[in-house]
Amino acid sequence: MKLIDKINLKGKKVLVRVDYNVPQNEKLEITDKTRIIRTIDTVKKIVNDGGIAILMSHLGRPKGKSNDIFSLKHIVKDVSAVMGQEVIFLGDILDPEIDAKVAQLKLGDIALLENLRFHKEEEEGDVEFAKNIAKIGNLYVNDAFGTAHRSHASTATIVQFFPEKAYAGYLLYNEVVSLKKVLIDKKEPFTAIIGGSKISTKINILNNLIEKVDNLIIGGGMSYTFLKALNIKIGNSICEDEMIPVAKEIIKKALVKKVNFLLPIDNVCADKFSENANTYITTENHIDDGWIGMDIGPETIKKFAGVINQSKTILWNGPIGVFEMDKYGKGTNSIGMAIAGTTIAGAYSLIGGGDTIAALEKYHLSEYVSYISTGGGAMLEYLEGIELPGIKALEEN
Ligand code: AMP
Repeated sequence: MKLIDKINLKGKKVLVRVDYNVPQNEKLEITDKTRIIRTIDTVKKIVNDGGIAILMSHLGRPKGKSNDIFSLKHIVKDVSAVMGQEVIFLGDILDPEIDAKVAQLKLGDIALLENLRFHKEEEEGDVEFAKNIAKIGNLYVNDAFGTAHRSHASTATIVQFFPEKAYAGYLLYNEVVSLKKVLIDKKEPFTAIIGGSKISTKINILNNLIEKVDNLIIGGGMSYTFLKALNIKIGNSICEDEMIPVAKEIIKKALVKKVNFLLPIDNVCADKFSENANTYITTENHIDDGWIGMDIGPETIKKFAGVINQSKTILWNGPIGVFEMDKYGKGTNSIGMAIAGTTIAGAYSLIGGGDTIAALEKYHLSEYVSYISTGGGAMLEYLEGIELPGIKALEEN
């Protein structure tokens, strides 16, 4: 995979696949511009070199039909503000006038195409559609890591039309390098901390990680299915009974692979799922009938933090308790602090997942970790060990 950094883009029309699938309110105003902000480096590199950046993205689920609600024209103003120059809206890629519109662009311009998913061929990965996009550019850059797990026309198929001329943008490149630092080029001991509410959504990640980690720490709601699988009483804590056999399999695998597998040893329990509940901390692992495990207890914090402190590589995905309620945030906060401290001492840490990123922000720890992945589904698939079509296409180019 070649980084865009390596070439001079002067005079080139550069097609850039970005992920501007931004959240919007009912007035179609953008509520979080992170996805746009994270593409600044790539767009600026093209513009500063004296090239033309032609940006393309999807937005929402228009299901292959043109639909004003999902039009990218609504975000042009914000993209212009973020990039510090006026962005020209080019309209639809299949507009018969598109070649004429592109011909009018000047060096240093930034342009934006209409939502590619207005055509069903985009999600089908259609070759003719990809060819139609490709014909308006001299070079292709993929900076849409969040869409790299899709085999779509603009993320994967298009690469064949740019032999030796398809590059990774900074955002995509940094995501891949960071994930590789954790999964492939890792320094040991490697510790993964996996939390969140359910095992069912993380089962493939757990199965992949167990082959690679030295320590696997399980926290959050999903820990109670594991504890129940070990015959520990969990009261009314969240549990996926149908996943108990799967939990047992993972525990068995950890034993075979000699992975240090850690579950909570004490819990903060509540009598209802609320900030106003009565609470108690278990002195052993069992939770009394009628009570819900909401967070890890102080002994667990000590144990988990001790393992984290000894680590050279750390991966964290999923909150350790119901941190959205302050009363049950201590576990997540403490684990975040342990990771931050260990990072400052020289370890490499990668944090991913919407709730985990929100937790880092809540506890003001974002700046102390090595890398925050905003890749969402693409990051999860990478952690599952799946080859992402968008990355594969670039690597084979
Ligand atoms: P997920 O989307 O599976 O990563 O789950 C994230 C959610 O897990 C967060 O909203 C947390 O509040 C929730 N969570 C963490 N610990 C617990 C717990 N002990 N019981 C129920 N939900 C939890």
